[in-house]
Amino acid sequence: MKYIETDNKFNRYCVTTALPYANGPVHIGHLAGVYVPADIYVRYLRMMNEDVLFIGGSDEHGVPITIKARNEGVTPQDIVDRYHTIIKQSFQDLGISFDIYSRTSSKIHAETASAFFKDLYEKGKFIEKTSQQYYDEETKTFLADRYITGTCPHCGNEKAYGDQCEACGTSLSANRFNQSKIYTFRTRASTKRNKALVFAIRRIRNLYERMDFGFTPRMENKRIWTM
Ligand SMILES: [Zn+2]
Repeated sequence: MKYIETDNKFNRYCVTTALPYANGPVHIGHLAGVYVPADIYVRYLRMMNEDVLFIGGSDEHGVPITIKARNEGVTPQDIVDRYHTIIKQSFQDLGISFDIYSRTSSKIHAETASAFFKDLYEKGKFIEKTSQQYYDEETKTFLADRYITGTCPHCGNEKAYGDQCEACGTSLSANRFNQSKIYTFRTRASTKRNKALVFAIRRIRNLYERMDFGFTPRMENKRIWTM
């Protein structure tokens, strides 16, 4: 991505980082790739007496958490409480200087995320799409390809993930598996009709292009984000 240098000067800075997923501890790759560089930048801004707020938090939503909880025989809340505490403590011990380190289960996060979503929904920015999606009868949840296993059409590995075969490294799509032999973790996978709300970024293209980012972001070719 190419940015155009400008003389724009911001009055204040809000620096946020990618949210570590609360189903395991952070590792050195997370720190090297995200948190240490962000921390260096924030410390530099503070030294320059800039008005800066450094915000992060644990991502506590998603299927991997519920699956881990099921495998351990505990609740999803137990999993996120355990790893949020470990991750937060790791950042403190390593001196990552967040002003706020929160979690996506917090009330303010739920309210803010809902407000964004509702606003876009009421303005008709989503397209409804219905499709067949993999479904786990035991947990009553729809599953991403990652949580489907089957036989790799390239190397014959019988435990390939729906998105990738770990044996030969090929990127896959679960619909390329033999559909009579696909599994979730313990049970045969089934499919069910599911309605998804798709966010069409082209609908806000004009707004996006008018926004002052202080640089010129490039519109990616991929125009649709799924929620
Ligand atoms: Zn393979």
